[in-house]
Parts: sequence; C-alpha cells; structure tokens
Amino acid sequence: MDSALNKAADAIGRASHVIAVTGAGISVESGIPDFRSPGGIWDTYPPEQYATVDAFMADPDRVWTMWYALGALLGNVTPNAAHRALTMLQDLGRLRAVITQNIDNLHQEAGCLEVIEYHGNARQMRCLRCDGTRALDILKRTDRAPRCACGGVMKPDVVLFGDYIPEEAAAAADYAARAADVVLIVGTSATVYPAAQIPVTAKLHGAFIIECNLEPTGFSHNITDAFLRGPAGTTLPALAEAVRARLGQ
Ligand code: NAD
Repeated sequence: MDSALNKAADAIGRASHVIAVTGAGISVESGIPDFRSPGGIWDTYPPEQYATVDAFMADPDRVWTMWYALGALLGNVTPNAAHRALTMLQDLGRLRAVITQNIDNLHQEAGCLEVIEYHGNARQMRCLRCDGTRALDILKRTDRAPRCACGGVMKPDVVLFGDYIPEEAAAAADYAARAADVVLIVGTSATVYPAAQIPVTAKLHGAFIIECNLEPTGFSHNITDAFLRGPAGTTLPALAEAVRARLGQ
C-alpha cells in the first residue's frame, strides 16, 4: 500500500480541486453495517418489498417498520476516524466537498462543511401531499406512518429505488465531478446508479482517482489510479497524515 499511499498523497498535495465520494463502507466502523453484506438490513427487509417508491405508495405503514429498524441502527452512532480524516483534509485546505450516498449525517457531525447529500438524510421527512419537511426523530417509533399537519402521509426524506435524485444535489455533484482534479472514492461498491457515475464523469474530465475499500470494486480496474486497500478508518487517517507531512503543516 505504501506506493499507492505515496501516489495518492502526492496527487492530493498537487491538486487544486479535491472531492470525496463516500458510501456505506465509510460508516461501517461507526457501527452501521452496509446493507448488502450477509446479516445486513436487506436480509430482513428485502429492498423490492421495503425500499422502492412503489412499495411505499402501496403500504406506507409497512415500509415505516423498516425505517424504525434503521433508526435503531442510525440513532446512536458517532463519526469514526475515516470521517475525521476527511475533515482534516478539508481543514488542511485540500478537500472542497464530500458527495455522500449515506443518509446518516456523520460527515456533518465530523465537521465537514460542504456535504452534498445524494440520497437525502434520514433525519428529515417530507409530506407527500404538501411537500413540507419536518425533522424526524429516528428513535421515536409510532404505530403508523407519521402524518403531516395537512393530513398527508410523511415519507423519510431519502431516495428510495425508483425516486429521482434531488435536483440540487445531482447538479452540485455533477459540477463538482467535472471540476475535480482528484476524487477520493471511499467505501462504495460501484453498483448503485447514478451515484456510481460520479467518479466516472470525473475521470473522463481528467481527474486522478484514489479508491479506499476493503476489496476491489467495479471502479478498481477501470478508473482507479491508486487503490488503498483496508478499512477506511485506517487508510484515510494515514493518507491525511501523509498529505499534512507534504504540506509541512
Ligand atoms: P454498499 O453497501 O453497496 O457497499 C459498501 C462498500 O464498502 C463495499 O464495497 C465494501 O467492500 C466497502 N466497505 C465495507 N466496510 C468498509 C470499510 N471499513 N472501509 C472501506 N470500505 C468498506 O454501499 P453503497 O455503495 O454506499 O450503496 C448502498 C446504498 O445504501 C447507498 O445508496 C447508501 O445510501 C445506502 N446505505 C447508507 C448507509 C448509511 O447511511 N450509513 C448504510 C448502508 C447503506
């Protein structure tokens, strides 16, 4: 990993526009399992029955049972060393923005100032009738889908399969990808679209791609220039430290 780490730190040290694209893997060391691994939430709540727009429209009360189960996973977690390392890169003046597929709010809690939430945030819900939003206490369970003051059914303000990516987030992510000269991809399997297109767009516009993951993904042999293998809570702090040393700070 040392030569990949050095290549990655050199690229970040030289770059003028670095962004990160993060997925479920960055939060695993905070205690939130990724959904896909055996024992993950999809085993109990198959996505086609619980995580699609059609499933929600057919039976919101039923889909909310999955959100309460998720709430128990997301409710009491804190950022880990990988989230903090990205904030350190930001504070060194080396990271402009994080585009995250996660809905757990952990980049913000780690002090990251520019977070583009590609799939929404589990701490907010939106009314399907009047489009109003309200904070969601994910630890507070009710028997049925919560209702808005207007009487409409509230939906967690996150992107379900079949939903559109929020327009502002999609535009901001596309702009950041085209402007980036380095992209750090952390803990994402490269299988969820259109999020998986972001690093590809950056590569097509000339960016150097650094990937941090436990194992190779669909990105690794196609667009990745430096692969840092291992838990992000180990590889990202080492990378941030190597960048700091190069900057002499
Ligand atoms: P994914 O579950 O498809 O893939 C996770 C990736 O992270 C895998 O490639 C895995 O090898 C890697 N990984 C696991 N532990 C790691 C670690 N410690 N360090 C580095 N890499 C590690 O995740 P995805 O690509 O983000 O897609 C899943 C979808 O589900 C996303 O849309 C995301 O929004 C959502 N999701 C969100 C959360 C969250 O908010 N924390 C958690 C699970 C899933």
